[in-house]
Amino acid sequence: MAEKDNKIYLTTPIYYVNSKPHIGHAYTTLAIDVLTRYYRILGKEVFFLTGTDEHGAKIAEAAQKAGKTPQEFCDEISGLFKTAWQNLNIDYSYFIRTTDKSHEEKVAEFLNVLKSNGYLYEGEYAGKYCVGCEKFVTDKDLVDGKCPDHKCEPQDVAEENWFFKLRQLLPKIKELIESDKLLILPEKAKSEVLGVIKQGLDDVSISRKSVSWGIKLPWEESQTVYVWIDALLNYWTVLQNLGKMEFWPVDLHLMGREILKFHCIMWPAILLAYYGDDAIDQLPKQAFCHGYFTIDGQKMSKTIGNIVDPNDLIKKYGTDATRYLLLTQFPFGGNDGDVSLSRLDEKYNSDLASGLGNLVARVVTLATKLKVQPVRIATQSVAGGSAKLKVKGSRLEQNILEAKNKYNFSLALENLKIDEALGAIWELIGACDKIIDTEKPWELANEKLKTKNEKVIKDLLVVLGEIAEMLKPFMPQTADKILEQIKTNKSEPLFPRLN
Ligand SMILES: [Zn+2]
Repeated sequence: MAEKDNKIYLTTPIYYVNSKPHIGHAYTTLAIDVLTRYYRILGKEVFFLTGTDEHGAKIAEAAQKAGKTPQEFCDEISGLFKTAWQNLNIDYSYFIRTTDKSHEEKVAEFLNVLKSNGYLYEGEYAGKYCVGCEKFVTDKDLVDGKCPDHKCEPQDVAEENWFFKLRQLLPKIKELIESDKLLILPEKAKSEVLGVIKQGLDDVSISRKSVSWGIKLPWEESQTVYVWIDALLNYWTVLQNLGKMEFWPVDLHLMGREILKFHCIMWPAILLAYYGDDAIDQLPKQAFCHGYFTIDGQKMSKTIGNIVDPNDLIKKYGTDATRYLLLTQFPFGGNDGDVSLSRLDEKYNSDLASGLGNLVARVVTLATKLKVQPVRIATQSVAGGSAKLKVKGSRLEQNILEAKNKYNFSLALENLKIDEALGAIWELIGACDKIIDTEKPWELANEKLKTKNEKVIKDLLVVLGEIAEMLKPFMPQTADKILEQIKTNKSEPLFPRLN
């Protein structure tokens, strides 16, 4: 991460309001929430931006279908995103809507600069446009004349537009990506972007004549800003409007694969056009791309009817359990991942009810029974490793060390290996369970045994404290509950078993 006086700027994409929030959006947003909480615990100042993307022909169409004005429609769907993030306990710094007046004004300002910097020119666009994708497509994008994602024929469009001189900036962008100054992860995503650049790209139209639901070009009000330019600029307009440019540039853009090219080609290009083509310190440091979601092996789609609303999971499992279940479905990044809905109950029961929940209950109950003094848990670094155990050289210590050596918790998180970071915590849980099974610390046959068992329980409490600290970025409420229980020795079930 870049050093900007201890400041970090993390973003999710802004979500297009043509559909309600689903677990794909939830997954990306959760991942940034975890990183934000992690870095804040480490003492960094983090600006976490999310929001909704609300302009374009597709939204106008969807609003009309719903019998609403575009603004009413956007207000409603944007509200659903806010509610979902509240229910998931997402601690964002700001929620941007591209229909915010302040955003619209800054976009106009930005484009005025691009124009005066000589990067915009008028031209005629004639080509095909897929409204579903909100982008111009060429024949090589189509399968049997149709957009493969939307299964519909693109519209023929011929109109006067304003164009952005993308082509002249491509060699620079290519060099920045190749040298990792603009780091694209995973490696496969980087090759994909470089492949697109090598194929060659034309200048892009940055305005539309026939789309009225958008931001007007400041110097030609009959044209609206292309929705992608409008959307990408949100990362910049928010900090500008809040007077928080000390967080700039972006440290990490997290996104799904389908929008990678916009973030790794178009976005750095318009920033270079604005700031000057040697201003590489203004560009995002990293774009990280995760795979597509499938649900029980099938692509999520309205037609199949398998779109999962995160609110439904929260109702069933609770906030923290939903956070856990979503983040542990598959390795983060790279390949596509499958969410196995049919196995969520099983996973909840095994990892949360029997795993974490049962361990906490066992240890706290034993502590009460043996009248072990409640343990004062020093707030440890989330990075772990600082717990001081009573039983030196014991099997407990050995098990804990082994569990810790299996995964490097901090390194895993900093490299967005979220599932591995959680794996590190569950290794510790497993190690504690093993200790309880072998040491049987409830046996009180004689005084010597009792003293030993008290020590074991105290050590388990210390490790539980450490587990709670590590859980904070992932399951903040659960972490607090565990810390509360080990401070008071009062056991409360964390995750009731599902039948
Ligand atoms: Zn399409």
